[in-house]
Amino acid sequence: AKSTGRNSYCLFDEQMNVNTHERLGIEQDLRQALVRSEFVLHFQPIVDLTANKLVGAEALLRWHHPERGLLGPDLFIGVAEQSGLITEIGEWVLNEACHEAARWQRQGARGLAVSVNLSTVQLHRGDLEAIIAQALVASALPPALLELELTESMLLEKSDSFIQRLRSLKELGVKLSIDDFGTGYSNLSYLQRFQVDKLKIDKSFVTNLSSNEQNRAIVTAIIQMAHSLKLKTTAEGIEHQVVKSILKSLGCHFGQGYLFAKPMPADDFLGLAQQARVE
Ligand code: C2E
Ligand code: CA
Ligand code: CA
Ligand code: CA
Repeated sequence: AKSTGRNSYCLFDEQMNVNTHERLGIEQDLRQALVRSEFVLHFQPIVDLTANKLVGAEALLRWHHPERGLLGPDLFIGVAEQSGLITEIGEWVLNEACHEAARWQRQGARGLAVSVNLSTVQLHRGDLEAIIAQALVASALPPALLELELTESMLLEKSDSFIQRLRSLKELGVKLSIDDFGTGYSNLSYLQRFQVDKLKIDKSFVTNLSSNEQNRAIVTAIIQMAHSLKLKTTAEGIEHQVVKSILKSLGCHFGQGYLFAKPMPADDFLGLAQQARVE
């Protein structure tokens, strides 16, 4: 095998076909990370494009690795999923996100929602509803302020137990949104069947919207479809004012992207949320 040093982050990418030895090393580090509390959540603002108002944030996982510094999820989520560790990590994320969002409510930023990414591994565990219910109770966060982000590929499964699972999630009172919408290839019937609330339009269509005719056509179609199905839309990856304006004129409800803010530590987000509420 090619010699890959400890500093080579591509080790973490499962696409690279990580060998067993290396994978075990990463797994070991991930296990330690939970014990040593090396994970943190960053929060990226989500804004109402019409009202120009902050409405919430997406929780995005980061790893303060003792040697490598701050690592983004693309570098370790794959191994976390393959090893099953994502279950524990995901539970930590849910608890932490609910806890933070409850703090926003108490500290002058009432009504802001938090979005949490779920892994397909978590979705197939029997105790997901219990874990979410527990996180809501422990934090006292109103369920409607928790939004779970699923990807289209997770909804390809059509078993009764799976459909029942999504129903029970909805019965808890949380919101469901489809992440990276447009990149999957399912027929769209699941949108009705699963009582989805929101579509998050993938950033690969959004970022260059102003110069790419094809992407503009796709985004226009998604927003129109969402309107007729009475679903909300969030566009992610908005980096330029002109893209924001186009999305707004197309009737997209919410936006997220570097134009507004990059993901930031919890305290920074709270400060921003408190300010945003003062005006
Ligand atoms: P995602 O859910 O699609 O999250 C959006 C990603 O786009 C984030 O990357 C965010 O930082 C980035 N982004 C936001 N605005 C812009 C923009 O204007 N331009 C560009 N170029 N990028 C933007 P991040 O934080 O590296 O997360 C990557 C992926 O890792 C996420 O993609 C999500 O699939 C996964 N992930 C993050 N946190 C968690 C978690 O707690 N659990 C699970 N299972 N997956 C997670
Ligand atoms: Ca997401
Ligand atoms: Ca996304
Ligand atoms: Ca993505």
